[in-house]
Amino acid sequence: MKMLEGKTALVFGIANDHSIAWGIARALHAHGAQIAVSYASDPFERRVRPLAEQLGSTFIEKCDVTDDSQIVRLFERLADQIGKIDILVHAIAFAPRADMTGEFLNTSREGFRVAMDVSVYSLVALARTAVPSMTDGGSIMTLSYYGGEKVAPGYRVMGPAKAALESSARYLAAELGPRGIRVNVISPGPIRTLAAAGVPGFRDAYANFAGSAPLRRHIDIDDVGNSAVWLASEMSRNVTGQTLFVDGGHNILLPGVE
Ligand code: NAD
Repeated sequence: MKMLEGKTALVFGIANDHSIAWGIARALHAHGAQIAVSYASDPFERRVRPLAEQLGSTFIEKCDVTDDSQIVRLFERLADQIGKIDILVHAIAFAPRADMTGEFLNTSREGFRVAMDVSVYSLVALARTAVPSMTDGGSIMTLSYYGGEKVAPGYRVMGPAKAALESSARYLAAELGPRGIRVNVISPGPIRTLAAAGVPGFRDAYANFAGSAPLRRHIDIDDVGNSAVWLASEMSRNVTGQTLFVDGGHNILLPGVE
């Protein structure tokens, strides 16, 4: 029997076949999970629907996570069509382009608000709405980056957003633990995706990564997917509120160590 047989995962954050959420969905499915998929807006449907169909998904729904009414509608449809879920994947981030360039000092009030709303509050909103569907307990996971702990070149407003995301995951983990729901964070090294293309320092971070990370190789979406399978499964049943680095050990180094 496969490790996630009988479990259903709802996955947010697939934009295309480079998305980390796609790597996660594919890995969860390979280990037996039924996959339900949500995408952000109409332009994404053309790419996301065929991917989801490759995994046999029948539940493929649009949801802009900044809109509470869309979140509620999605979970109403989910309750009708699927019923209970066991796994919730939150792989969503956004900050306005203007606030990803120039100095962090000049971050606009609106840019800060949008980054926090899309990249952080959405985890809280999705978790709250998902909990009634997680009747057998479950596993919620989100994606962060080391730039939430240390200052990373070009990461700007996403740094404080990731710090707030990791903290939110811990607060959710504390409250949801007694209901048998675990909440964890995966923090991968740099991976070439649509979101990464919007981070000005990304090219250099990516180019230098494999030469300096202790394991001397890049991270791919399958690496993240495999870690997600572990977090989704009973193998990690006593692990909650944690940030799991999938970065070849990069985070353990001080600058200059090779
Ligand atoms: P991606 O662009 O493939 O995924 C980002 C997703 O966020 C997209 O699917 C996009 O549609 C979705 N999104 C944005 N605004 C939304 C909204 N309002 N409503 C619903 N969905 C919305 O890029 P990715 O790199 O796979 O990003 C996934 C997560 O991984 C993000 O949280 C990102 O910060 C994190 N992460 C990425 C890297 C990397 O190097 N790529 C490293 C560490 C962490």
